Amino acid sequence: MKQPIEVTGGPGGSVFLIEGSEKTALYDAGMAYCAPVMMEKLDKALKGRTLDYMLVSHSHYDHIAAMPYLRQRYPQLKVFGSQHAHDVLERQGALELMRRLNEEAAEYYGAPGAVAPYDDADLHIDVVVKEGDLIGLGDISIRVLENPGHTKCCLAFVAGEEYIFPSETTCYKSRSGKVYPAFLSGCADSLTSLYHCSKQHIPKIMAPHYGLVTDSTSGQYWQACLKSILESRDFIVEWGEMGKSEDEILNAYEVRFRDDEIRAEQPNHAFDINTRAMIRTVLHEHARGISSPMEGHPLP
Ligand SMILES: [Zn+2]
Repeated sequence: MKQPIEVTGGPGGSVFLIEGSEKTALYDAGMAYCAPVMMEKLDKALKGRTLDYMLVSHSHYDHIAAMPYLRQRYPQLKVFGSQHAHDVLERQGALELMRRLNEEAAEYYGAPGAVAPYDDADLHIDVVVKEGDLIGLGDISIRVLENPGHTKCCLAFVAGEEYIFPSETTCYKSRSGKVYPAFLSGCADSLTSLYHCSKQHIPKIMAPHYGLVTDSTSGQYWQACLKSILESRDFIVEWGEMGKSEDEILNAYEVRFRDDEIRAEQPNHAFDINTRAMIRTVLHEHARGISSPMEGHPLP
């Protein structure tokens, strides 16, 4: 199949165009204020074709907030996502939070007021998909994998059995090439999801926030992700067992894991919110003896 084309409009989640002989699909959409750049790139990449589908990796604003502008331009667009993402986007509170985060992000990245008007009702999932479902694009299909761990609503997608788009559940990759964990809703779930992705034996990985992985084999990539998740988890468990508070663990975690790359790519408040969620998740699972059935197994 043709290599997916990156049309990312700015910081946040990467956006890719996947082309089949009959239909086209966009993987995520990015932040609202980045929509004009993303859509200009998308227009060029489409070369006169229309956009038929959008695939939602998960319901975070930095991945899907540009969806309403896509609907404005491509009124027949069908958006595919998990049941959980569908339900999140039905909640008024979630839509209000997304609007606020969009505006704050525009301001943070130096484009205050750049969020064009949109209708909250245009942020919704049209077609709920689940594990094993196929989305046909003509000569290729996109296969759905459930991938909870970063959020409960995360999906991974396999395009043409050649490219896998794992969600942030299995880590994200910085420009420096390093992978970082992001198990906000479940560390045990993240490990299970990581094994699930690895087991597919798909040769080409489209790493979250990065794109096509070319600096390692897929096996090495999954191994690096596993190591990164376990290192973070074990660090939090160790500090938790020492009786440290969440603030103390956060500070220690920052010293140990937050490097210049992450400092440049992730604003302070986002690092704070995400790391606190990871700390709570790990301590919660540790206290209740929750672990992945894959724990200790070699990666497939
Ligand atoms: Zn996310």
